Amino acid sequence: MNAEALKLGILGWPLKHTLSPRLHAEIMRIAGVEGEYKAYETPPEDLSSRVSELAASGIRGLNVTIPHKVSVMTLLDTVSQEATLAGAVNTIVFNEDGRHTGHNTDITGFLRSLPENITSRLPESRILVLGAGGSARAVLHALIQLNTREITFAVRRPDKAIAITANAELLKRHYGVKTMVNVASLPSLPSLEGFGGLINTTPVGMWPEITASPVERRLVETLPTSAFVYDLIYRPLETQLMTDAAVLGHPVFNGLDMLILQGVAAFELWHGQAVPTSALPQLRQSLTQALEA
Ligand code: NAP
Repeated sequence: MNAEALKLGILGWPLKHTLSPRLHAEIMRIAGVEGEYKAYETPPEDLSSRVSELAASGIRGLNVTIPHKVSVMTLLDTVSQEATLAGAVNTIVFNEDGRHTGHNTDITGFLRSLPENITSRLPESRILVLGAGGSARAVLHALIQLNTREITFAVRRPDKAIAITANAELLKRHYGVKTMVNVASLPSLPSLEGFGGLINTTPVGMWPEITASPVERRLVETLPTSAFVYDLIYRPLETQLMTDAAVLGHPVFNGLDMLILQGVAAFELWHGQAVPTSALPQLRQSLTQALEA
């Protein structure tokens, strides 16, 4: 690798099944950029020394994943407005002047993955979000930015949703919107009538528990047929929830585009140039092959 090559990587613990090295190798190939993207498995106690070591080695950028997305913020010189509002960083840029800046491209990834016929209807839509963890924060941010009419978080313990509703208030003030935000109990949802979209941010249905679904089929049957169903899971590419919804005629989406587009947004921050949208089918194909292998 020559001295000009882009040095990139990901920090997380553990990192066994990460698709990011494959994704970024493909993005660099398409962009015609020479570089490397390595997985740096890093336990929490080594986070600070690892970031310093990598900075000294001339790294240009890092992705940051579980469990470091919040704790890494204290190690950075600047955090973007979006990442500050989200309270989490998933991308670090190591600038030439020595400053380290933090960003959150999960929000951009989810936002860019939504088709126009969905985003244009959000100001009149009631959206049901299952779960209120880290990825639900990115979903919330995007939905508020897009002026969604109403968001209901369905969670197994409503008392644990206080943090996300507080974050919603902050975001509403920031974007100057009036989105209504409610919390409901996931185990006792009576019906899905009236919702224009259902977004699963829980890991229920993820490999290897692929026959599990966060909502029973009889409940999916109560969702208006025009409502979309978006599962953030990408392993498997079609979850039980998506199968149940597709049979009933709902438009369904998996988490692959969000994953790809958060990576594309991170690469754009590191490389400083846009990746053409025409690259998306190739990136999808490459990751689909990796997931099906
Ligand atoms: P997280 O921060 O741990 O949040 C998970 C949420 O799901 C929490 O609200 C948790 O509730 C809830 N939950 C967990 N198990 C549940 C169960 N059995 N029944 C009901 N609720 C349950 O995880 P995350 O980072 O948000 O990730 C969640 C999923 O999204 C994973 O499958 C991940 O692969 C996927 N994801 C995809 C992308 C993408 O780019 N496509 C990006 C990020 C995440 P409690 O608080 O009660 O535990």
